[in-house]
Amino acid sequence: MAIVEFLSMAQSGAFDAAEATRAYIAAMPADQAAQTANYHEGQIWLIPIGAAVSLVIYWLLLQTGFSKGLRNKLEGTMPKWLAVFPYVFVFILVTSILVLPFEYYVSFVREHAYGLATQTTGEWALDWVKGLGVGSLIGTVAFGLLFLLIKAFKRTWWILGTVASAAFIYAMMSLSPIYIDPMFNDYTPLEEGELRDNILGMAAAESIPVDDVVVYTSSDQSNRITANVAGIGGSIRIALGDTMIEQAELDEIRYVMAHEMGHYTLGHTTRGIIFLTSMAFAGFVFVHFGFGWANRRFGSKWDIRDIGDIAGIPLFLAVLTVFSTLLTPIQYNYIRIGEVEADEYGLGVSREPDGMATSALRLSTYRELEPEPWEEFLFRHHPSGSSRIRMAMEWKAEQLAAGATDQTTELQLERARSVFAEEPDPVDEAEAAN
Ligand SMILES: [Zn+2]
Repeated sequence: MAIVEFLSMAQSGAFDAAEATRAYIAAMPADQAAQTANYHEGQIWLIPIGAAVSLVIYWLLLQTGFSKGLRNKLEGTMPKWLAVFPYVFVFILVTSILVLPFEYYVSFVREHAYGLATQTTGEWALDWVKGLGVGSLIGTVAFGLLFLLIKAFKRTWWILGTVASAAFIYAMMSLSPIYIDPMFNDYTPLEEGELRDNILGMAAAESIPVDDVVVYTSSDQSNRITANVAGIGGSIRIALGDTMIEQAELDEIRYVMAHEMGHYTLGHTTRGIIFLTSMAFAGFVFVHFGFGWANRRFGSKWDIRDIGDIAGIPLFLAVLTVFSTLLTPIQYNYIRIGEVEADEYGLGVSREPDGMATSALRLSTYRELEPEPWEEFLFRHHPSGSSRIRMAMEWKAEQLAAGATDQTTELQLERARSVFAEEPDPVDEAEAAN
């Protein structure tokens, strides 16, 4: 008798992770899941399409004689080494303008069509101009210096270029949160209260050296919920978007911020610098050998002397574009591995499996909830909503089985459904922004 009683007790108290996962996934209406899948799959197709657009632009600059003409003009009026900088500057301006229609479609028209953007055309244009200003300045200096290395060391530039890239990546990661990000959004300290206490409390418990949390106006550009952590070594900045504060509840934000802290604690910034530098190294080696081949094969009209000739910059970038596009799945896998690690950490620190589940549903308003496993493996840089919900529910089942007293078998299904009931109307959104 005693054994039978014990079994039935265990059964009634058991938490079925698979069933809970299905219940959360079912909270997203099928038509909205299909719309997000459409949006997200289109985003992936835009990667090779964008690469093709760039290749056409580079080809035009070479084939029409624009590139060699600009070189002849500049090198006729100044030393060859100095001509690198105005060439790069003009090149960035011209290519940015040529790619503008495509960029406008991708980051404005399409975002509005899916109800994700909040900007008016004027606000979008202002951001574009600011981006071009910063990009052309940094690009001219950074790429100009790299090109001087190429000119001076035609056989070994890819080694020195890799070292220079590491320094550049480190500088950008350290400086952009301070100098560039505030150009596009306002950053203010999070007001004192329960939310701030929760975030700083988790950080203190994990010995993360942070004494402030900042809020940025993510609503300036879109209604997506976002957060990020910036910092290398002893300095860290935890930031959350105002869209997150507006839309998400405390347990959801606790999980998201614990996930962000995970990126810091697990050393993802340093690892990211190493990964990006390795990618730069591989890309440079590919260009070093691919450049000469492509020039001999297609370049009869281009008049490119060698890899140290500025007239060949469009070809240099074309070969690099082919390389980085082909390696997209490797980059995505690298990012996704870090995201899964940060999820595990975030779950353990926040102890909010239902906050994780419903925030995964909120993210599924722009990321496909249930992609095919091969799609997730090759073409997703974050775990899908369904993978995250499954992780959260399996964690919850383990905790309950281990007798955790802060976990219950309850699910936040009402909130999960409300995520999709409150979907903003794209037309109203555009009007409100005007
Ligand atoms: Zn993350």
